This record gives sequence, C-alpha cells and structure tokens, in this order.
Amino acid sequence: MSKHILILGGGYGGLLSALSAREHLSAEEATITVVNRFPTHQIITELHRLAVGNLSEKAVALPLEKLLRGKDINLEIGTVETISPDEKRVVLSNGKSFDYSALVVALGSETAFFGIPGLQEHSFTLKSVNDANKIRQHVEDCIESYSKTKNKADATFVVGGGGLTGIELVGELADMLPGLCRSKGVDFNEVELYCVEAAPSILMGFAPELIERATTSLSKRGVKFLTGVAITEMQESTVSLKDGSTIETNTLVWTGGVQGNSVVANCGIEVNRGRATVSEFLQSTSHPDVFVAGDSAVVFPAGAERPFPPTAQLAWQMGETIGYNLFAHFNGAPMDSFTPVFSGTLGSLGRKDAIGSIGANQTRLKGLPASLMKEASNIRYLSHIKGLFALAY
Ligand code: NAD
Repeated sequence: MSKHILILGGGYGGLLSALSAREHLSAEEATITVVNRFPTHQIITELHRLAVGNLSEKAVALPLEKLLRGKDINLEIGTVETISPDEKRVVLSNGKSFDYSALVVALGSETAFFGIPGLQEHSFTLKSVNDANKIRQHVEDCIESYSKTKNKADATFVVGGGGLTGIELVGELADMLPGLCRSKGVDFNEVELYCVEAAPSILMGFAPELIERATTSLSKRGVKFLTGVAITEMQESTVSLKDGSTIETNTLVWTGGVQGNSVVANCGIEVNRGRATVSEFLQSTSHPDVFVAGDSAVVFPAGAERPFPPTAQLAWQMGETIGYNLFAHFNGAPMDSFTPVFSGTLGSLGRKDAIGSIGANQTRLKGLPASLMKEASNIRYLSHIKGLFALAY
C-alpha cells in the first residue's frame, strides 16, 4: 500500500528531505506532502543582505511550487498548529488535518527572547524574508523621519547580540547607512550604530584573530561595540542595559539567540531543551516514524557533550540522510547514520569583508578570500538544489 510522507517545513531540512525521499521512493510507493507557512523556500543565510536592500527578494525567496514542479510532491501552504505523534496526525491553523505513515519535522527554530521585558513587543527579528523587508523599510523611514525632525532615536540603530546573525547584519547596516543618509540629506556622522553583546566578546568561540578582525573592520565603519553588557529591557524607544545605562532608539534588532520550535517542543515527542532528541539515523528517540531535520532536532556528535550548531549546512545534510532513511524505514533496509561534513563557518562583515575558518584544520580566512568562499558556499547550495529541482527563477 502506498505510504504518505508528511514533511513539515520547506526550509533547508524539509526541502532536501522531500527531494531526496522522492529520489529513493517512486510516486506509487509514497505520496509526499510538504507543508510550509510561506509559498517560498527562503535562503535565510542571506537575510542580512535583503534587510538592507543589497539583494533582491527573488534571490532569497524561491517559489516552492517551482522547486517542486514535476516531482510528484504535494505542496500545502499553512502553519502547523499541532502535531499528535501518537495519533499520527498534524493539524494546520487553517483547520486542515493530515495523517501520515512517516513524518519529517523540519520546522526550524524560533527567536529566543529569554523573558526580557518588552523585547518581543518592541524589537525586530531577522528570521524570514518578511522580517528582512520590515527592517529595510523601517530603517529607511527612520532616516527619512530624522531628516525632518532630528529626533535622535530615529538616527540610532541597535543590534542586540553579537553572534553571527548580529554581526552579519551590523556589517550590512554599516555599509548601507552612509548612502541612505546621503540620499536623504542626513550627515552620517549623526547616526549611531551599536552592537550590544552580553558576553565579554562578540563572536564567542571564534579564534581571537578573527574576532579582532571583525571588531576593527566594523569599528572603522562606525559600529560601536558594547560588550560584556546585556540588554535587560526594551521599552518603546529605550533599550536598558545591565550596567544601568540606556540607549534611546526606535530600532532594536534582536539577534540574541534561537530556541527550538515551540510546536515541536510541546507535541509529545522526546525533546531536550525544546529540540527533538534523535538517533544517529535522525529518528525521534520516542517515535520511530518521526524523523527530524535541521534546528528542530538536537544532534550530538559521537561522545561529545555539545550538540552540533544549528546551521543551514547541517540542516541540508540532515534532509538528505532522512530522504534515504525514509526509504530504508519502509523497506526494512539498514538506515544511514548521520555523518555531517563540515565545510567550515564563514561570516560576512558587510559587502567587502568577511571572516571564516574552513576545512579539517580550521584554516582561518579574512577579507576577500573569506568573502569569495562565503559567496561560493551560497552558489554551491543554489546549484545543488537547481540540479535537483531544475530551478527556474
Ligand atoms: P547566537 O546564539 O549564536 O548569538 C546570540 C548572541 O547574543 C550571543 O553572543 C549572546 O551572548 C548574545 N546575547 C544573548 N542575550 C543577550 C542580551 N540579553 N543582551 C545582549 N546580548 C545577548 O545566535 P545567532 O547569531 O542567531 O546564531 C544562531 C546559530 O546560527 C549559530 O549556531 C550560528 O553559528 C548560526 N549562524 C551561522 C551563520 C553563518 O554561518 N554565516 C550566520 C548566522 C547564524
């Protein structure tokens, strides 16, 4: 009897699970349905560029309908409301429900606000194309407004969190704001651009020479770093810091951390701090007919105490492993263990600078080589899915 594979999420993990499953299972063997809240597959690793208009929306929002065309994969646009793993049923907020033979959960992560008062209500986030578009419009509006009112809060921009998301965004803002100011008749020297980081340093875990490079490169372009000081509250136009100081601003972009998807955390499958625990085959440890890809899962390298980081390159590889394992699951064949290949970590520092470490030796890169590698890794992903899906955009 034909099986039904239901895939929740059309991001890196979900899309690659679907395409890989279809490579291994014919349409007679399995019906595949992908559920996604947006009609697009979003290249979220490039959202910082969209947030300043340094990339067009169509480069980061690829229509799923086109990507899946000719693959015998059903697409359902909707938001997952509940997953009932014991009943093998998923309900969407539009009221539709789906039963499955096997489920792939690839719903990504959510912004963590850590209960900081006012933060969720008064900050911007950078998790989707919609978020990036909102930031771009808002920053333009602020500079426009400042040109008329000289309200300092309009010319002050704060990025909360100095991880890779925060640093990539602040680099783009540093490159974009001077031009925007010129076009609106505003002196860029009147603009303040902060990156606030609670830890003693930005980019914790990076080699000191790369942190130094990022700090110097961004400071030269006007970024003010406040490190070792946490954001403790956000009111409408006031960011409060742990040292008692405040910053008046109409723009706080919060990039202070991510957490497991709450629908997954509360659905009854086994979780560890909100992310699904999985076997080496990426099967839920409590429900073998549920596979989990990307940030929705927590995966520990053999013998390690710290899990793999929640990154796109991992999500993509998890999807491909799951695609094969669905075939193995239905056919009683041995499954593949998840053995990721790390190409490295690369972070942009704006349009012309980047840092990274690549390869087994963690070779450190700075400047143009790192920028080129970062661009190449994006192209590599796009050409991979292009090959798989005959991309037409
Ligand atoms: P993160 O958790 O890596 O960084 C968040 C930062 O915010 C931390 O440095 C933390 O100390 C800081 N912070 C937390 N609370 C704070 C507070 N109250 N005030 C000020 N600062 C506070 O989150 P991220 O940057 O979104 O990254 C999430 C994951 O995605 C990571 O694994 C990262 O490596 C990955 N990522 C990778 C890339 C890339 O490869 N280019 C880009 C973006 C994200």
